[in-house]
Amino acid sequence: MDIPRIFNITESAHRIHNPFTPEKLATLGAVLRLETGTRVLDLGSGSGEMLCTWARDHGVIGTGIDMSQLFTEQAKRRAEELGVADQVKFIHGDATGYVSDDKVDVAACLGATWIAGGVIGTIELLARSLRTGGIILIGEPYWRQLPPTEDVAKGCLANSISDFLMLPELLASFDELGYDVVEMVLADQEGWDRYEAAKWLTMRRWLEANPEDDFAKEVRAQLTTAPKRHAAYTREYLGWGVFALMAR
Ligand code: SAH
Repeated sequence: MDIPRIFNITESAHRIHNPFTPEKLATLGAVLRLETGTRVLDLGSGSGEMLCTWARDHGVIGTGIDMSQLFTEQAKRRAEELGVADQVKFIHGDATGYVSDDKVDVAACLGATWIAGGVIGTIELLARSLRTGGIILIGEPYWRQLPPTEDVAKGCLANSISDFLMLPELLASFDELGYDVVEMVLADQEGWDRYEAAKWLTMRRWLEANPEDDFAKEVRAQLTTAPKRHAAYTREYLGWGVFALMAR
């Protein structure tokens, strides 16, 4: 079981697999006023940077589940490196339908809401692991500017304009589901550069090391086009943020 190989190649050097910088992740941990012993569940935990740094900085404990074997191994190594391996656990597996045995204080899904068919399904899934009064964290794109055409949306690697909302509409959708938005931290264009541009050097080095690989053609094509695509589309049109929600 694993995610499509292209992601394990292009994001192999990422610690954070979304447009948050380490500073933004730290800001999110701080604004949530996490206390020692706070229990956190992270679905689609990637390389574990959120759980590991929050365990180090705030004393949280928790579990991450991710379908990438590579990212899960990296998460375990990061926990060792930061000295928090006794506080956080990483499971290689499919987070679809995952509900924790014990209720948690914070249930998160940052940049992987497709695991439950979108934002609404993911909130419902996370709510099943959450204690009464706990906080749900959703990391999700939104349109900074509405794409003028469907082609522009595709340039942002969305299937269509309707994949995402504008920020006010996204916030309103949480309200309509019966949740208070109690905090939010938004990525910026610099964060998008870190997420996207970091793939380019990784791809270039991978190509040099694996010229005969079956995937070399695809990676080469991506490396050639990605910088222009990023500058024209994702960087201009797409926002991303983490929204902290509490049921009303
Ligand atoms: N939350 C992490 C990773 C976001 S990228 C971070 O912010 O750094 C999306 C992640 O979802 C990837 O790590 C990918 O491996 C994982 N993923 C994709 N499908 C999944 C599934 N069905 N179950 C668990 N993880 C999944």
